[in-house]
Amino acid sequence: MSQSDILFDYKHIWHPYSSIINPLPCYSVISAKGVYLKLKNGKNIIDGMSSWWSAIHGYNHPILNKSLKKQIKKISHVMFGGITHPSAILLCRKLIKLTPKKLDCIFLSDSGSISIEVAIKMLMQYWESLGQNRTKILTIRNSYHGDTFGAMSISDPDNSIHHIYKKFLPKHLFAHAPVSNFNQEWNSNDIISFQTIIEENQFNIAGVILEPIVQGVGGMKFYHPIFLKKVEELCKYYSIPLVFDEIATGFGRTGKFFAFQHANVVPDILCLGKAMTGGTLTLAATLTSRKIANTISKSDVGCFMHGPTYMGNPLACSAAHANIKILEKNEWKKQVINIEKELLNSLSPLIDHPRVIDVRVLGAIGVVECKQHVNLELIQNFFVKNGVWIRPFKQLIYIVPPYIISMNNLKKLVNVIKKSLNENVLFI
Ligand SMILES: *Cc1c(COP(=O)(O)O)cnc(C)c1O
Repeated sequence: MSQSDILFDYKHIWHPYSSIINPLPCYSVISAKGVYLKLKNGKNIIDGMSSWWSAIHGYNHPILNKSLKKQIKKISHVMFGGITHPSAILLCRKLIKLTPKKLDCIFLSDSGSISIEVAIKMLMQYWESLGQNRTKILTIRNSYHGDTFGAMSISDPDNSIHHIYKKFLPKHLFAHAPVSNFNQEWNSNDIISFQTIIEENQFNIAGVILEPIVQGVGGMKFYHPIFLKKVEELCKYYSIPLVFDEIATGFGRTGKFFAFQHANVVPDILCLGKAMTGGTLTLAATLTSRKIANTISKSDVGCFMHGPTYMGNPLACSAAHANIKILEKNEWKKQVINIEKELLNSLSPLIDHPRVIDVRVLGAIGVVECKQHVNLELIQNFFVKNGVWIRPFKQLIYIVPPYIISMNNLKKLVNVIKKSLNENVLFI
């Protein structure tokens, strides 16, 4: 990669959530292995982000690579309309086995946001089929469900990266987010707002969609499992389908295979993505109960009207299948517990730093909430110079490292965060 390549990138290529006229610098990664990203200058840096929650077993994993190589020799892609193939079937068998019994039918799609669009369309069609015109989704504040239009419309309209699109979006219902934290006492007032809204709009609500336990982009908060339990009870009482967005939390990140298992609840629809392919290829899934799938299919249209070109991509499906096979060895549990222990040990004391408001740890997620926003350009540069890859947003410095990270490397990530807190210029 030459200097002119970098300039080309700078001038012509959009990066996530960036400007084309004044983009922040990008770092060139030429390869990766395990927890290390190798930069253009040959330097290896420790990855603290798992490429946004996805590369849970680290990069260049031999088992994932092997499954991809094996599949590419057979077929990379084939349309899913009128055709099926072993990779999709193998994967879907695993997904049905891994998820609660209730979830019985699978719609594969290309990204997390699309799996949410699919869930919303299913909810609409479900009620249509029952002869009821229900148009509202109920969710909570600080939610984030993706960047497409349906997903944006159920993400917090004010406290979100999408507020500029607010005027184009359908209006849904937002209850207050719970204030009871995951490991604190349950405050029964937390359910009042949700309960009031569901009561008052019971005949117009098509479904409830939540990120279980962990609110990600909306503030990296971990809320109380009893909130989920109460939500489930209310949804059952009013016969309103409950959808969980496990796109970030699924596949072990919070210490349970799915975050909703912390609360012992079961959704009617489940969205999966991010870590499903172990960070190799894009793939998502929307799982539903038999009841919902059947009801949709009994409508006048009879069909569910969605069908991405790359639906059920064989390469992505075989990577996802291999990823689940790695998880089935059950090493992830110990890995995540060890990460949690180390973070509780070394990250938690940062709470005493004058710059810090809160430190939160759950499973393999560590969050340092600061009083001020970070200067992203400067802090990113600081992290890279100190040999780590951490990408904060707003006032949140967080890490979601690959499960395979050594305790030594995890300590290094924490130490660099600690060091960054002493640098005034990195904060606005
Ligand atoms: C990342 C994310 C999405 C969107 O997934 P994409 O694959 O980026 O479209 C949706 N919901 C949650 C909770 C996420 O973290």
